[in-house]
Amino acid sequence: MNTDLIKNSPEKVVESLRKVVGDDWVTNDLSQMQGYLYDETETLLRPEACKDCVVVKPASPEEISEVLKYANKEVLPVIVRGGGTGVVAGAIPTQPSIILSLERLNKVVEFDEKNLMITLESGATLSQLLEELNKNGKLFFPVHPGDEGAQVGGMVAANAGGTRAVKHGIMRNHVKALEVVLATGEIITLGGKLLKNNMGYDLLQLMIGSEGTLGIITKVTLRLYARSKCNGTLLVSFNSQREACDAVPEILQEGITPLAIEYMDRVISEKAAEQLGTTWPAAKGSVDLMFILDECSEDDLYSNSEKVVEICEKHGSVDSIVAETEKDQSHLLQIRSNAYGPYKDNIADIMDVAVPPSSVPDFFDDVKRLTKEYGNEIVSLGHIGDGNIHNFIMGDNGKLPTNYEQLKEEIYKTAIKYGGTITAEHGTGKTRKKHMPLQFSQVEINIMENIKRAFDPNSILSPGNIVD
Ligand SMILES: Cc1cc2nc3c(=O)[nH]c(=O)nc-3n(C[C@H](O)[C@H](O)[C@H](O)COP(=O)(O)OP(=O)(O)OC[C@H]3O[C@@H](n4cnc5c(N)ncnc54)[C@H](O)[C@@H]3O)c2cc1C
Repeated sequence: MNTDLIKNSPEKVVESLRKVVGDDWVTNDLSQMQGYLYDETETLLRPEACKDCVVVKPASPEEISEVLKYANKEVLPVIVRGGGTGVVAGAIPTQPSIILSLERLNKVVEFDEKNLMITLESGATLSQLLEELNKNGKLFFPVHPGDEGAQVGGMVAANAGGTRAVKHGIMRNHVKALEVVLATGEIITLGGKLLKNNMGYDLLQLMIGSEGTLGIITKVTLRLYARSKCNGTLLVSFNSQREACDAVPEILQEGITPLAIEYMDRVISEKAAEQLGTTWPAAKGSVDLMFILDECSEDDLYSNSEKVVEICEKHGSVDSIVAETEKDQSHLLQIRSNAYGPYKDNIADIMDVAVPPSSVPDFFDDVKRLTKEYGNEIVSLGHIGDGNIHNFIMGDNGKLPTNYEQLKEEIYKTAIKYGGTITAEHGTGKTRKKHMPLQFSQVEINIMENIKRAFDPNSILSPGNIVD
């Protein structure tokens, strides 16, 4: 990789890029680049960003194509940057690089009501998408990672999940077409406004979750759905993790699929509420399940809420609270959204493992044992209907705890023992790359490396993410 050119002669790189995008859209001035050097990876885990970079902000796929042709010819690393809300250091440059920001590709291209699809440029944010859907009022897009500053291209590249996956799945389930600029500069379109398409290998699905390593996504077509008419939120408390977990499959077997089923250790909810200057409404028990139900009618909402409470009682729930008004519902959701807030300054790692849903109680028991063994104070929340648990490994007065690497590896191995995965929705990025061999055989890693080479022969795109 020709990183010396960027480090020693940045003015040459700046000049070449200015010829493509214009003078105003290239910089290597550190004060203007600060906001492009980091993402939302936990402070204690973030790799040190390399500051010998050049930021470029193209306005079209054609300009991106020219930038990539130049970078490929000179063999310069290109870090692809969306909204910068990622949590696995995917958008952090760790060597002298061109940082390519998608922020100027931010338009809604087409709202196709008849086909229930929307096409956006990849730099449009989730918040823009939601605003567009609110204007329309009839249609809905289900995937919602916690930060609305995420760009749709970043959500595709990270295959984002979020709280609503239990009912609607993840990005992979809703992306119908992508426009992509390859490392060698060709612009290709994958997929289309189709509900069925079986021709050839599915390159569209390969691009989803590729974290900037296989191509730069410039346009995204997403499937939309009819909005449900009635929403309700239920908070149900239990004395143990196992009782809470055991209630979930029975609710799903009953034919009730809530929009979200969130698990929370009580201590997290109480701290999150306290930080917001309010109180968590549940007092009995030590753990909570939060259910969000969205139904076609008030009758369905009431009868399904009753059934959920009934099943939870059968599994030992000690209290249930129905948030009927919009104000009560948003109060609960606001506290849930602030779960990370009180821990932010002293968190070593937010784990993101998933196990088959039936193994969640055993996984929780193993984590409790590890917590004792390693003397760490692990707290947990998660999208429990998907078997996706976020364990917070705590830092030691603002530093990684001494046994952090071993503890993390033990948790990964425990998840894999149950047929699980190291990361369910946050991705591999740079922070989890070294753990690939825990989950994949060398044969599988070799196939991934060959795929990377087929798309990006000089390995210029997002080096350091997933595989080399
Ligand atoms: C408070 C908070 C809550 C969150 N909650 C969730 C959650 O519930 N579920 C979840 O899944 N995630 C969650 N996230 C993580 C994050 O929001 C998602 O991963 C999101 O999809 C990242 O989008 P982004 O545009 O910010 O991407 P970035 O952070 O900019 O980039 C992420 C990766 O995608 C690549 N990339 C970005 N844009 C493109 C593009 N156009 N073409 C090719 N590659 C690209 C980058 O190189 C990088 O590797 C949360 C983050 C925060 C801060």
